[in-house]
Amino acid sequence: MSRKLGGRGLKSVENEFKNTKIRAAVKLYCNADPTMAAVRAFEELAVQNGHHSIIKDGKKYAEELDLQLKLNFPNPVAVADGKEVKAKKVKQAIYKARQQEIQSTNAPTHTIAGVQELYQQLLPTKVYYNRKTKSQVTDEKCRLCGDSLENVQHILSGCSAVAQTKYLQRHNNAFKVLFFEVLRSLDLITKVEPWFSQVTPKPLYENEHATAFCDVPLFADTTQVKANRIDAKVIDKTSKQVKVIEMSCPWLENRESEDSEKTTKYSQLRLELTNRYPEVQGQSV
Ligand SMILES: [Zn+2]
Repeated sequence: MSRKLGGRGLKSVENEFKNTKIRAAVKLYCNADPTMAAVRAFEELAVQNGHHSIIKDGKKYAEELDLQLKLNFPNPVAVADGKEVKAKKVKQAIYKARQQEIQSTNAPTHTIAGVQELYQQLLPTKVYYNRKTKSQVTDEKCRLCGDSLENVQHILSGCSAVAQTKYLQRHNNAFKVLFFEVLRSLDLITKVEPWFSQVTPKPLYENEHATAFCDVPLFADTTQVKANRIDAKVIDKTSKQVKVIEMSCPWLENRESEDSEKTTKYSQLRLELTNRYPEVQGQSV
């Protein structure tokens, strides 16, 4: 995104490559040079024979931006929002479409900067101050909980003071992205909400092929089942599968232990589900 719009003025190599392909395809169809006529004929033949061609690439990449290329010599046009864009204005149309793409899918700059800070462990924690900038901080204990070392790992995944608030919120937001995709794949919803949307999943979704429950307690018949609040339970009636989805956001090095912890935690529940739905296959995700 350009600096003028609050970005960093960086260009994506992939997007530039695609833009060039689109523009080259358009240019090919407005150039009256006889040599270019030969190139056009060659490229059209390539399309017919199913080979790689600049025409096909150009059209494909334009479609990603909701632009339809109509390549007719000598006046190729691109159609955007039902309006024809002449060859000379195609560059602008691509630029406009890219801006919209960035604004609708990307995070704000300060969020990206914040994430980078976390990745590179440059967050101004006490440990960072003490060991990297060598400023004399008397202790390195966490300012929120006072228990552990205040470093990025602790702030992101080990602090008891924010476990029930920030971590829970993060868990719900991350889970939502996955859950909406699952719902979409089962035709329980028609549109996947973008990750930043404030919409939260409903407790129940149902159609004739599937049922999905979100964050509902599963009342067990036996009392041994303690961990019976699950992030989601999806019953696929066609393939006869019950899927239990549990999301966790662990620190990378804790991933394996978290995995086995969840598996143990839900083993009783799995058994319970198997008993309850004997005809179906159980699978936990
Ligand atoms: Zn803490």
